Amino acid sequence: MSAVLEPTGQTDGVPPYCAWCGGARADGDHAACERRLATVDPPRHCPVCARRMVVQVDPVGWTARCSRHGESAGANGFG
Ligand SMILES: [Zn+2]
Ligand SMILES: [Zn+2]
Repeated sequence: MSAVLEPTGQTDGVPPYCAWCGGARADGDHAACERRLATVDPPRHCPVCARRMVVQVDPVGWTARCSRHGESAGANGFG
């Protein structure tokens, strides 16, 4: 498990948690979450540790900061 997420890059493999609801991706159906992340909504939870992130939305995208894993930014979810 990597300690730092690339700000806008793809991660190798699939992060363990859903960035929208914070649930384990292996547990349950997150298709609706992924649709939201792929359209207008920034992630609310760190996909690595499921902590709630501090999210700021601006006209060109968003930034989301995990207190443990740092900041991610973009116009889409973590993929
Ligand atoms: Zn979810
Ligand atoms: Zn984190």
